Amino acid sequence: MALAQDIVRALKEMLPPAEFTALHEPSFVGGSEWDYVKECLDTGWVSSAGKFVDRFEEMLAHFTGVERAIAVVNGTVALSVALHLAGVEPGDEVIIPALTFVATANAVSHLGAVPHFADCEERTLGLDPEALAGYLDRISQMKGGECFNRASGRRIRAVVPMHIYGHPMDLKVLDQVCSQYSLVMVEDAAESLGSYYKGRHTGGFGLLGTLSFNGNKIITTGGGGAILTNNHELADAAKHLTTTAKLPHRWAFVHDQVGYNYRLPNLNAALGCAQLEKLNGFVEKKRALARRYEEAFAGVGGVSIFTEPADCRSNYWLNVLILDQGLESQLEPCLAATNDAGLMTRPAWELMHRLPMYESCPRMELPIAESLAARIINIPSSPQLAG
Ligand SMILES: *Cc1c(COP(=O)(O)O)cnc(C)c1O
Repeated sequence: MALAQDIVRALKEMLPPAEFTALHEPSFVGGSEWDYVKECLDTGWVSSAGKFVDRFEEMLAHFTGVERAIAVVNGTVALSVALHLAGVEPGDEVIIPALTFVATANAVSHLGAVPHFADCEERTLGLDPEALAGYLDRISQMKGGECFNRASGRRIRAVVPMHIYGHPMDLKVLDQVCSQYSLVMVEDAAESLGSYYKGRHTGGFGLLGTLSFNGNKIITTGGGGAILTNNHELADAAKHLTTTAKLPHRWAFVHDQVGYNYRLPNLNAALGCAQLEKLNGFVEKKRALARRYEEAFAGVGGVSIFTEPADCRSNYWLNVLILDQGLESQLEPCLAATNDAGLMTRPAWELMHRLPMYESCPRMELPIAESLAARIINIPSSPQLAG
């Protein structure tokens, strides 16, 4: 109980006084949101065509330093389409961290593929590439240049690193593991827009990467996502597939594949352009908030604020308090005390292998993911809180 009260006190002393403080709220003040959205309404370009989609895609590619960005309706379908374009077929296995939001696993399953869960590491909270390499060495077999799970007989086609809470995982070592086992890397960068690994933006390291602009992410389009890639052929295929696979023509409706209607509406893209103009400001504020949290919790025993891994610049999308080992029993009391005090906090997501639809999926030993999931508390992280 004492720890829970210490946490409530530290948060209250630091945060602006309020009856309720949300975990993460979008911010639409002081920018062009109203102007751009009004322009859509005034001109009638609200839906599947309009200049804001192109502009948003160009701005995203420029910001993230990739060749191409394709805007779609959400981050889940962005990941599904990216995996499909990376060659994932029904019956393949795809390695993902056990500690992730359920969308990562769902995107794999929507393709008829099977998520295969990997452990994470304390240093980054992300997938542990060295543990993965040791595991693959034990359980896989290379055949015809492809990696197979010896127990299930299924091909292991891809790995999806996820930069949890905005903190980049160890992409360099993972890249080596991918080369060694012929795995395609597709990054789930839904939480890491504005985060850099060794000076390069996340989401551009894999063959493809994906973003989300859901209402709780660092910028929002109401709902939305994007596919990132440096490969023009894949980018063209992504655009084609997500826009009903229609062949360009002045009037004819001819489609050459079973396409999807996943295009981001112009109305949402307009909001996205205005939000993207403010992204650097949001990141600055979130980084300042993280530093203040670090100071505020420096004197509180039993917990620590997670700080960005070496060689990384994190967007600090959600700040993370981690209880010391041995204090797992304090997690529920801490969540109860903070939420009772009007301070919205949340635990880590339930680990994927504990969800009913994923409990029989293949997985490695998950000691670190299990330990972290019992000790993580996300605390209020809206950029507005930095003052
Ligand atoms: C938000 C999120 C997604 C995608 O979410 P959508 O709500 O479909 O946009 C995917 N993966 C992770 C890790 C996320 O946090």
